[in-house]
Amino acid sequence: MMRFLFRRFRRRRYRRVATPRKLKQGDTILHRGERLTLRISEDRNRLQGCETCAGFLDVNLPDANAGSAERGEEVRLEVALWQKREARLVFRERTDFWAEQLKVKYRRLTPSNPRRQWGSCSARDDIRINWRLIMTAPELLDYVVVHELCHVTHKNHSWRFWNMVATVMPDWKARRMQLRQLDPAANP
Ligand SMILES: [Zn+2]
Repeated sequence: MMRFLFRRFRRRRYRRVATPRKLKQGDTILHRGERLTLRISEDRNRLQGCETCAGFLDVNLPDANAGSAERGEEVRLEVALWQKREARLVFRERTDFWAEQLKVKYRRLTPSNPRRQWGSCSARDDIRINWRLIMTAPELLDYVVVHELCHVTHKNHSWRFWNMVATVMPDWKARRMQLRQLDPAANP
């Protein structure tokens, strides 16, 4: 019971990696551990979408209902769509990089949306990575990727497993501690 209460208490102290439900001009979002300030435009001569530019995220919504109550929601959806697309690209690149370092072969990679996990590796070597890791510092994403790739070889958390993690990532403990401060279920 004490344990339960303690854990409940600890949950509230999580720092959120969340993006609020509505986004407006000048709001910030987290991306790869950096704060990007939103610059929203309605330029009909440019494509709809997001682009990073030195600390800013340019969000172009040519067909937005300017001033309407829904606009903030439209911006949020556009940003979430962009972050999920980025997650797909970045996760693939990092997973292939670390798979080569570790000399392991995984089967499939999917950005996922679990409530309690940062990542998983199935018995069939399918790897899932929580897409919210696109918001955190790159070294935390790398830790999760290395962790799950080592499960291709070791389906447990034995000392052999941790030894394998340490061969490519000697500071894995510090990264894991940092990751534990964050809530994988934080609302995007
Ligand atoms: Zn594990």
